[in-house]
Amino acid sequence: MSEDTIFGKIARGEIPANIVYEDDLVLAFRDLYPAAPTHILIIPRKPIPRLCDANVEDKELLGHMLLTANQVAEAEGLGDKFRLVINNGADAGQSVFHLHMHVIGGRPLNWPPG
Ligand code: C5P
Repeated sequence: MSEDTIFGKIARGEIPANIVYEDDLVLAFRDLYPAAPTHILIIPRKPIPRLCDANVEDKELLGHMLLTANQVAEAEGLGDKFRLVINNGADAGQSVFHLHMHVIGGRPLNWPPG
């Protein structure tokens, strides 16, 4: 089902995106509606709808997403000042049901988020 999302289409190369990194497991591309000067989304190629749908078989993939975030943050010059966000489920703000991690930086980040 999540293969039919916009991110599924990006993962399959069916629609364009501003891709900053990709490999066999993940893609990283710029958010179309950035919430900060740097706002990149990291998605698995595997169509997992929500983080809560991931299972133990996805352990390596999930770790790879985190390490990709480090790599992307460094390439973007964010140093150690960045935030990772995964909205899980519609009530938590998830709007695209293909797992994605937001990498946000380039401005002061307040806590708690809204
Ligand atoms: O966590 P959530 O599902 O709300 O995040 C979806 C993100 O995807 C948003 O930040 C939105 O700006 C982004 N988006 C995008 N390109 C689209 C549709 C949504 O970058 N075509």
